[in-house]
Amino acid sequence: MMTARKTPADWQAAATAIEYPTQAFVDGDYRASAHGATFNADNPATGKVLTPVDEWTAADVDDAVAIAAARFEAGVWADRDPAERKAVMLRFADGIRAHAERLALLETLETGKPISQTQAVDVPACAGTIQWYAECLDKLYDEMAPGGHEAVIAIRREPVGTVAAIVPWNYPLIIASWKIGPALAAGNSVILKPAEESTLASLLLGEIAAEAGIPAGVFQVLPGRGHVTGDALAGHDQVQAIAFTGSTEVGKRLLVRSGESNMKKVGLECGGKSAQIVTRDCEQLDAAADAIAGSIWYNQGETCHAGSRLIVDRAIADALLERVEARMAQYEPGNPLDEATVMGAMISASHQQRVQDYLAEVRRDGGQVIGGEVLARPEGGAFMRPAILRRIDPASRAAREEIFGPVLAVIECDGLDEAVDLANDSDYGLAAAVWTERLSDAHRAARRLRAGTVWVNSYDMASVATPFGGYKQSGIGRDRSLHAFDKYTELKTTWVAV
Ligand code: NAD
Repeated sequence: MMTARKTPADWQAAATAIEYPTQAFVDGDYRASAHGATFNADNPATGKVLTPVDEWTAADVDDAVAIAAARFEAGVWADRDPAERKAVMLRFADGIRAHAERLALLETLETGKPISQTQAVDVPACAGTIQWYAECLDKLYDEMAPGGHEAVIAIRREPVGTVAAIVPWNYPLIIASWKIGPALAAGNSVILKPAEESTLASLLLGEIAAEAGIPAGVFQVLPGRGHVTGDALAGHDQVQAIAFTGSTEVGKRLLVRSGESNMKKVGLECGGKSAQIVTRDCEQLDAAADAIAGSIWYNQGETCHAGSRLIVDRAIADALLERVEARMAQYEPGNPLDEATVMGAMISASHQQRVQDYLAEVRRDGGQVIGGEVLARPEGGAFMRPAILRRIDPASRAAREEIFGPVLAVIECDGLDEAVDLANDSDYGLAAAVWTERLSDAHRAARRLRAGTVWVNSYDMASVATPFGGYKQSGIGRDRSLHAFDKYTELKTTWVAV
């Protein structure tokens, strides 16, 4: 069913009337923190506070983890018939769809993402992922090992117990679903810790899950800052696995906290500086330019697998860049509550300043910055235009570090081998792409590129059926697909002598 388009005034009215969830969702209901701490949920499109939210401190975390552990021990979720759990999770997915408008609006208000995208992409993808794992739930078979006539050897997957999902602000609902879906389907108790910048829609997920019939305490949502709530979960002895998406710096910290506590499993989806290689034989320069622009400017460039490094053959660099530049105007930032807006607000003024500092450094070093202007809107907020960096040193910070903004770093090369060497010369390895008409070059490059996903003549094609994650310092383990179950299960061998 098509929903009627709303005007920015309609959305503003809905935003004014919306109720914010401000407490943790614990043991089947909203619950106030026992310790009275709060932090602010802000609107980056205005710079104003939306609402104070309770912060779940270390002692509160102890309470929530104890509840999660007790429900796991009691088997209220894991021991239920798979078909029943499937039905509950399918209702959870339907509930997300039923609350789509409120979820999309909360996410837009808190992150500055355009409402057209939170409605069309983030909420449906979140529901779709929960549905996909629900549908897997009663179709997963365990294994038998060859035991000959002497033994029956079963290899079973068992849930780990309590999983803490610690997620970032750039795709809050989608990334939460990548963790919640398989972790719940595997039978675990799950605690979601959203980023402090994107809490509100995630809190609502707790309520929707409870309405669907996920038992109290099996799915809880704890708001709070990373070094408080996140750290308490990371160092907790009763948490058996951390499922993290966020920066490489915090990912490394979580490995340390695991080692300092109970050696919990740590799955990490971290940063990236993904390379797009365009070879001199690429005939589809317009299609490549569309994909390059979308890959770096969609979501304000705040995308882990953004194609932030364009490695282009010198022979076609100007022809390609002319086309990419022509697409900058399509990404003019505007009011996130206007359905026509394609580029919204940056997550915060301080993050925008961090991005601008990279541009200033490039100018200082004699590089060329095309675009990237900060926009002052009457409503306030953090808005900047897309940027392209040319004539930069491949060893410079702007060429190597994750800027996490709408900034395309261009590096020119001679030939495919040099392009792949440049692409691999990175601490990261999340994604890469190669544009070429030559089939053998495509396969050769795809094989050599050290990245979790390699696209050929495309970018950012995604499906929940494909694993997603990184080589090197882009992470450990994979989200999405059946491989995600590795993060949330232990393998048990039962050897029966016959
Ligand atoms: P971040 O690392 O600052 O925060 C991520 C989460 O970790 C938040 O919930 C935060 O509260 C929590 N956290 C922060 N410090 C913590 C600590 N000491 N202990 C425990 N938890 C802590 O990242 P961000 O700024 O929210 O998101 C941007 C980053 O996320 C970028 O680097 C981006 O590449 C990465 N990211 C990666 C993927 C992927 O799939 N590989 C996807 C999206 C984003």
